[in-house]
Amino acid sequence: MKKVLITGAAGFLGSHLSDRFIKEGFFVFGMDNYITGDSKNIKHLLDEPNFKFIEHDVTEFIEIEGDLDYILHFASPASPIDYLKIPIQTLKVGSLGTHNLLGLAKAKNARILIASTSEVYGDPLVHPQTEDYYGNVNTIGPRGVYDEAKRFQESITMAYHRFHGLETRIVRIFNTYGPRMRLNDGRVIPAFMGQALRGEDLTVFGDGMQTRSFCYVDDQVEGIYNLLFSDYSYPVNIGNPHEITIKDFAEEIIKLTGTDQKIIYKELPTDDPLQRQPDITLAKKLLNWTPKVDRAEGMETTFNYFKQLSPEELNKSEHKDFSSYTNK
Ligand code: NAD
Ligand code: UDP
Repeated sequence: MKKVLITGAAGFLGSHLSDRFIKEGFFVFGMDNYITGDSKNIKHLLDEPNFKFIEHDVTEFIEIEGDLDYILHFASPASPIDYLKIPIQTLKVGSLGTHNLLGLAKAKNARILIASTSEVYGDPLVHPQTEDYYGNVNTIGPRGVYDEAKRFQESITMAYHRFHGLETRIVRIFNTYGPRMRLNDGRVIPAFMGQALRGEDLTVFGDGMQTRSFCYVDDQVEGIYNLLFSDYSYPVNIGNPHEITIKDFAEEIIKLTGTDQKIIYKELPTDDPLQRQPDITLAKKLLNWTPKVDRAEGMETTFNYFKQLSPEELNKSEHKDFSSYTNK
């Protein structure tokens, strides 16, 4: 039985990846320190004989007993509000954490896939974004802690590939959504859905003319799975190219949720990218992959997930309390 280590397993993407690898017959080690994750995302896996959870901060030395065939490094805060509140952990998990995992991969002779992001393109001057675009990132802005950690992560991964001959894969993930996102993580989909369910107005930042392209989680997992088993070591964009302005998206959510909320406008956060759309030509050709779930279907499934949350969870609208973690 092949063994895979998934970091960030108690988070949104890590828990869906854990499900997929269990389903495919792997033994899964799920690792997380719960800083932005939630134990409820993996509760259903804890009785699985082929799943073992390890509570651990990946910025500390990592030990896994026995063989390991694959590593998927998904541990990292991923929402702008999260990484603004825990900037130093964000830098550390992308840099020190990735270094530890590359070292582990080398020691175990395992193939490693790291989760990069469309944020490496910053506020892009090329549209749609192709993998050969170098990006436009403000190193010292508030988002720099995430963007630069991810850029460093790509660099050190390529260095291990070139210098040590390690088998590496890099996925550049574009905005992905679905069940198990944290309702109060501040990302636009849980934010709008939570507001609609609580009967609050929807907060659009800026004039709402900035664009995003939203990918449903099952499509993202399929793309990542195919990339891991491909023989390509350079970055690959995985996302859904169907682009929409945030204002139009807010209107879609109002229609979907059947509420009569208004849109209210708030200040655009610093360095919020004005446009984002993946060019997925490479993924199509290399991985024979295209997204299958359209936004209407994916949003409905996601809304049904948020709808069944308890009133207590729904009203916990304040952001996560990170006070028990220090920014060491
Ligand atoms: P998430 O916050 O739901 O999950 C991240 C998980 O990593 C959490 O469970 C958190 O507790 C864990 N974690 C963070 N630091 C850790 C540490 N030092 N040690 C151990 N565990 C740690 O976020 P997500 O959306 O599932 O994102 C997962 C990965 O995908 C991240 O690397 C993120 O940068 C990347 N990504 C996600 C998106 C998206 O749209 N969801 C887009 C681009 C990139
Ligand atoms: N956004 C918004 N209202 C909110 C939350 C987010 O208008 O309540 C906007 C945000 O400014 C950005 C887009 O939605 O332009 C996507 O934000 P998100 O935090 O989901 O991810 P990003 O793509 O910026 O990393």
